Order: sequence, then structure tokens, then C-alpha cells
Amino acid sequence: MANNLVNATLEACRSVIAGLKDRRRSKTARREFWALGPEECTGLPNDIGMSTGEFDDAMHMPHASQDFLTLAMLSVGIDPDSFHTLEFVRDGFMSRTCITCPHRRRCHSHLEAFDFESHYRDFCPNRDNFSKLLAKRYDA
Ligand code: SF4
Repeated sequence: MANNLVNATLEACRSVIAGLKDRRRSKTARREFWALGPEECTGLPNDIGMSTGEFDDAMHMPHASQDFLTLAMLSVGIDPDSFHTLEFVRDGFMSRTCITCPHRRRCHSHLEAFDFESHYRDFCPNRDNFSKLLAKRYDA
């Protein structure tokens, strides 16, 4: 009983510390982004179909400074650097979907546990895009 309480307290502390670290990383990423200057601050979000304001809002999401799209693609067996993938990502606004995804916390947990590939179909808004990319891989 006492052990359970200690474990639960430790887990809560770890979670608070992880949240604080994440917020600090996101704050740094936002600062670095705004330091790029007006041209890049407009161009970079536009490249993925977002306005500068939308991009800044998204930088307040959990784990905002982390690229989950690349990790998720590697986890399900998609080459994130192939020409076809890069084209599909751009045309399907996959980066935008990922950056604004409401399930970033859950995604992070599964990526950390290396079991994203067994669970993403339940929650990932990019799941259909992943399926199309995987189908193309077998067509080629
Ligand atoms: S769950 Fe969300 S954050 Fe994770 S890969 Fe899918 S779209 Fe991106």
C-alpha cells in the first residue's frame, strides 16, 4: 500500500519534471524560430500550409519542438527521406496535421515505448496517409 503511494508520487513528480522540460524546449524552439527573421518566419510555415500565427499557436502544443512525423514514419516502415514520401508529405499537408495534432502526448508515449506501430491506427490523424504511403511502397 505504502509502496503504491510512493510509486504514484514518484510517477507524478517525473511527469511534472518532463512537462517542465518540454515547456522549456518548446520555449527555446519558439525563440529560435522568431529569431530567423520575418521572411523565414512567414516562408517556413507557408511551406507546410500554415500561417505564422497558426505555427506559433502550434508551438504551444505538447512536445512541440519534436519531429514526430519522421519518427512515426520510421516506426511504421516508411522511408521519410525518399522523394516520393517527401512529395506526398507536402501535398497531403502531413506536417501540418502532425504539428497541430491533438494526440501528441499519446503519440510521444507510444514512440518512447517503441509500440507506435501497433497503436497508431486508433488515434493518429495521419493514419490514412501512412497507409497510402505503405501501399505505394509495395506498388513500386
Ligand atoms: S499521432 Fe499525431 S503527432 Fe503522432 S504521428 Fe500521428 S499526426 Fe503526428
